[in-house]
Order: sequence, then C-alpha cells, then structure tokens
Amino acid sequence: MQFDTVIHGGTIATADYTAKGDIGIKDGRIAALAETLSGGERRIDAGGRIVVPGGIEAHAHIAQESSSGVMSADDYLSGSISAAFGGNSSFIPFAAQQRGQSVDDVIATYDARAARSVIDYSYHLIISDPQPKVLEDELPRAFARGITSFKVFMTYDLMNLGDGGMLDILSVAREHGAITMVHAENNDMVKWMNRKLADKGLSAPKYHAISRPELAEEEAINRAIQLAKLVDAPLFIVHVSTEGGAEIVRREKFNGAKLFAETCPQYLALTRDDLDRPGMEGAKYICSPPLRDARTQDTLWHHIAMGTFESVSSDHAPYRFDDTGKFLNGRDAPYPKIANGMPGIAARLPYLFSEGVVKGRITIEQFVALSSTNAAKTFGCETKGRIAPGMDADIAIWNPETRRTVTVQDQHDNMDYTPFEGMEVTGMPEIVMNRGAVIIEDGELKAKEGQGRFVARQPADLRAKPGWTAKEFDPAQNFGAVLR
Ligand SMILES: [Zn+2]
Repeated sequence: MQFDTVIHGGTIATADYTAKGDIGIKDGRIAALAETLSGGERRIDAGGRIVVPGGIEAHAHIAQESSSGVMSADDYLSGSISAAFGGNSSFIPFAAQQRGQSVDDVIATYDARAARSVIDYSYHLIISDPQPKVLEDELPRAFARGITSFKVFMTYDLMNLGDGGMLDILSVAREHGAITMVHAENNDMVKWMNRKLADKGLSAPKYHAISRPELAEEEAINRAIQLAKLVDAPLFIVHVSTEGGAEIVRREKFNGAKLFAETCPQYLALTRDDLDRPGMEGAKYICSPPLRDARTQDTLWHHIAMGTFESVSSDHAPYRFDDTGKFLNGRDAPYPKIANGMPGIAARLPYLFSEGVVKGRITIEQFVALSSTNAAKTFGCETKGRIAPGMDADIAIWNPETRRTVTVQDQHDNMDYTPFEGMEVTGMPEIVMNRGAVIIEDGELKAKEGQGRFVARQPADLRAKPGWTAKEFDPAQNFGAVLR
C-alpha cells in the first residue's frame, strides 16, 4: 500500500500497551501498524518520541455565553488552536440553551460558531429549560444528529432544574441512549453561605472558596447519583473537586451504577490560597467548584491512579482579567459578581504528562486513557481515541524530555493570563495531527481555519457498567417490581 504518511521509529503508547513501531496513514485514517513500514509520501521520524492518540478535550466552554451573559474570550478559532497546541486533535465544548430558546435554534447557533474550528468537534447540549416540546421532540432530534450528551446544573438560579427536572432529563436521555453530565453543587447551601458572608461584608475573591463548601459538592454528587440510579440512566459527574465526592463516585461505580466522572488540573495544581493573592489577583482563580487544599490534591491524584475518574479535563472557561471578562461588573466587584472560570485547554495535557507520567504518579497508558481513549468511549466518538487500523489518524507525537516554563504566550488562546504561569513542565507535543493532516509542528500552526469537522457521536459505551435497578421502578417496564 502507498501511504500518505508513515510515522517511523516512535514508541506507540495506547491505553492498553506500549510498543515500538510504525504507523501508516492513508486518506486521513490509520491504515497499518507494523514493526516497520516502508514508503510514505511523507515520513515522520519519531525516534525518541512517544506517539499517542490526539487528546480529546471533553470539557471546554468555547464561544459560549455564561448564564449571566458573559461571552467566553475564546471562539472556535482561538479555542481550537489553543487546544491543538496542547496536544488535542478534537474537542467537545458546550452548546448552551438559554431559557425559552429552542434546541434547534441552539444547535444552529453553535454550528455557525464552530465552523471556524481547526480541529474536529462536537457539542454537549446544556439544557436549562426542559419544557415538554424540548423533552419529546427537540432532544430526540439532537440525538439523531449525533449529539449524545447533555449537561444539567444543580446550582445557579438560572440553570438549576430541580430534582424533578433532572429526573425528566435523565429518563429521556436513557431512552435515547444519551449520557447526562451534571455540575453538582447544592444551590441553597451556596446561596445561604453567600448571605452569611455578605452580612459580614466579606466580599474579596478568597471568600469565593468559603462560599462553596466541600459538603455542597458531596451532597449534590450523592443526590445526582441516586436520581440517576432511580431511572438507571448513565451519568457523568463533571469536575469532581473533593475527597468526599470522589469517594462517593468510587463506591457507586463499585455498586454498578452507570457512572462516569472527571477531575481537572486546577484542582491538582492550585489551592484556595491562590484566591488570596494581593489586590484582585485572586479573581483569576475563581472557578466553581472552587479550588480546595493540598490534602485534596493528593487524594485526587490517588483517585486518578486508582481509576475513579475516566478523564482529566480542562474545564477551559476563559474570561480575561479585564472589563470584558472577570471585571464585567467592575474592578472591585464582590466575588459573586466576578466571572466564574479559568482557562487551561492548552495546559491540560502538558500538566498531566509532566506531573502524572514524568513524576511517576500514573503510567503512560493511563495518560492515554485519561486524555483521549476514555473520552471517546464515554462520549461515543467511535473513530477516535485509539491507535488502530481504521481509526481516524488523530495523533500527537510527544517529546518526553522537553522542559519549559508555562507562559501565557505559549497557550495560544485569547487570554491575558494563565493560572499555570511559571509552572515547570517536562514533555511537550511536537507534532499534532487531525485526520492525517499535521496541524501543529515545530511550535507552529499548520492548520487552516475551518478544517475541523463535526463528529456525529454514538451512545456511551456501557459494557462494563451493569446498571442498578430500584425495587420500586424498572425503567424498562416503566413501573416497579413491587407493582407486578
Ligand atoms: Zn465547565
């Protein structure tokens, strides 16, 4: 066979094994794997390098208005470029329904925004208004188009659906083979804490971390899982940030729930002390759930190594340190009025490689699973996340020895800061490919605007997740065993 490209002499790392070998690419797909392959219009020498599936970023806010109306600093062009520099070949940002908006309209809006992407993309659909026509008509149409994941919120007044609303979404999603993602924090606990702090006049950024207790996350994670179990629906807990939350996830996975979860680099690399930096610097570190403490970092790493989490995702939510972003409500706004979120789409994989693989906390195979393979399985990207014949040639070639200091410039996003500034990392993606096309090489962008394509996705891979049936309600029968 005549290959378009042969990647030669590298160490191929997958979620299951690592071996030296060559990869032959033809028409954008992996056509052959062998000890050595000859030919190739282009031969890439990967000697001394590690060849992995291109990252799949499963949690990013791109060209998205927050519920309070702030537009993220990155659009699909800058966001996808930043992702590519960080070793990603595809990503799944959110398409967010505002209350009253039809889902068809949401998808059309994001289709137009995403047309600029340099990497392949899909969307998770954020549902804030599950009216009957949304549940009966519009969501099934979205699934049919290959949008097989939703996100719901248990917090924020404008987003929170209540437990009944969540059950409606979970059961509709289950019926159509979709997975529901949830931001789990107890809304009333947070509001109550906000009131207590406001009564005392405590409004500096550092109080953001106090206002969202670990217990608020633990309680909501547990509640979300019990709701999903009642209707035996697949559930994905986003950005787990607490020891208690991670332990509940681990226990319920063991019990068989169709449960998936992720954590993010910011909860591993930063702590609530970063919110107490001088002046308003702490505003850069406001995200929800908030940063925790050093003990939590160690525990979350342990859970990563032990398999509690499918993925480590960035939760890239870029708001600049100026009046368009963090300070939309003024330079001295109290913490609840400061835009919520931090960037990290380019930093995710270098951080995970350096602190995880290089420091010996996880294996290279785990790195591949956490960065790509599991996201492909969880979110139904059938042709991605693996290096095997027939798969898309989405590949990243890492130099495991390059050392550098993280700067805002090398994030290649539209941001004016990175929370990871100054961090020393070892290991860097030198070449990144999307469907066989080199998109990053020698620190330069080789992709053209708009060359990314929409990925129609399949249902989540539930093969190792037996599920859980409540005595009183069997969703397959639509009533419970006790009624029979
Ligand atoms: Zn998020």
